[in-house]
Amino acid sequence: MKSHKILMIPGPIEFDPEVLAAVGRPTTSHNDPSFIEAFGASLEMMRDVFLSVDGQPFIVPGSGTLAMDAVAANLVEPGDAVLMLNTGYFSDRYTEILKRYGGQVTELVAPIGATVALEDVENALRQKSYKLLVFTHVETSTGVINDVPSLVNLAQKYQAISVVDGICSIGAEEFRMSEWKVDVALTASQKALGVPPGLALWMVSPHALEVFKRRSTPVMNYYCDWNKWLPVMQSHEARKPDYFGTPAINLVWGLYTSLQLILKEEMEQRFSRHQLLSRAFKAAVTAWELDQIPLKPEYAAHTVTAVRYPKGVEAASLLPEVAKQGIIISGGLHPKIKNEYFRVGHMGTTSFGDLMATISAVENALQVCGYAVSPGSGLAAAQAELWRTKAGSTS
Ligand code: PMP
Repeated sequence: MKSHKILMIPGPIEFDPEVLAAVGRPTTSHNDPSFIEAFGASLEMMRDVFLSVDGQPFIVPGSGTLAMDAVAANLVEPGDAVLMLNTGYFSDRYTEILKRYGGQVTELVAPIGATVALEDVENALRQKSYKLLVFTHVETSTGVINDVPSLVNLAQKYQAISVVDGICSIGAEEFRMSEWKVDVALTASQKALGVPPGLALWMVSPHALEVFKRRSTPVMNYYCDWNKWLPVMQSHEARKPDYFGTPAINLVWGLYTSLQLILKEEMEQRFSRHQLLSRAFKAAVTAWELDQIPLKPEYAAHTVTAVRYPKGVEAASLLPEVAKQGIIISGGLHPKIKNEYFRVGHMGTTSFGDLMATISAVENALQVCGYAVSPGSGLAAAQAELWRTKAGSTS
């Protein structure tokens, strides 16, 4: 049996050995011309992955929460009105962060497993002027996906800056920053970008950068201040050394490698591969006659699947049984239903083979835990989905 278990959680994910080798290389100086080239090229490649023509990319040491914090610290001034579409655990976190900087946050809370209705968002925007409209693309805690282009349209119509937490989406879910006119998109290295945890990344539209520059109060967070980081990003793109805080040098080497691998696959292919992985996994769940947390298929993300336990099965029995077969999956996270479901991540390097191994492991574990499934039913449903897609793409 292999000692390495496959990480099928919604981040961190399995990393490509080439990326791990790049992270593991001897550390260079941050002023080394080769590193400045890797950093500069990574910033440029970020635009290609976010499908942004003119965004300002940032790569800063920190986890995804730092990216959330940085965007809030730089775009919110005390008293600014913020409309937050709350889809769960990570929206709760964002509300807390926005308030920390004096944001007057109005929350529209979606039912668990759904998104806030577009009419409700429009009503709120019509009633009051908001500086920011903030939402999560994929709510990792429930596997719910927001309709980014429709929400950004509304933000545009009512002149609010759109801020998208794309931590569980960017690099996997269809995301078109320029075409959709998204103002700010943020993510972290450990998910679909395929680099071990430790990099916070975000992209800011020229309009949002202008709004930032017109601030009337100082940024209340020293480490996150864009006035400190912006020159560093601009210098690196111009292939010149510059320093504010020491970059996470080895992780940037990993990012440089991973972004090349991502772009080699090509974004459109990557979007459709993730859609296929998701359809296949969800077909297995349906074959097992289990429910998902997203209440309708259109609310379901392609990077993660959240599945309700059948009666009598719980995290404490299912997860270790799956792990015995070499696969690591996650329990629930949404505070109100934490113990009612498990989550499987399928993004980044996940191959169809990894997905089938996961389906097999979950199917066996369900059986061991006393839930009767017919042998191979999940695998057959996933395989059928693959064949249907192949047939469709060649006809
Ligand atoms: N937002 C979303 C949607 C996430 O999935 C996560 C991490 N799971 C975060 C925010 C927080 O990121 P981090 O744990 O890297 O700080």
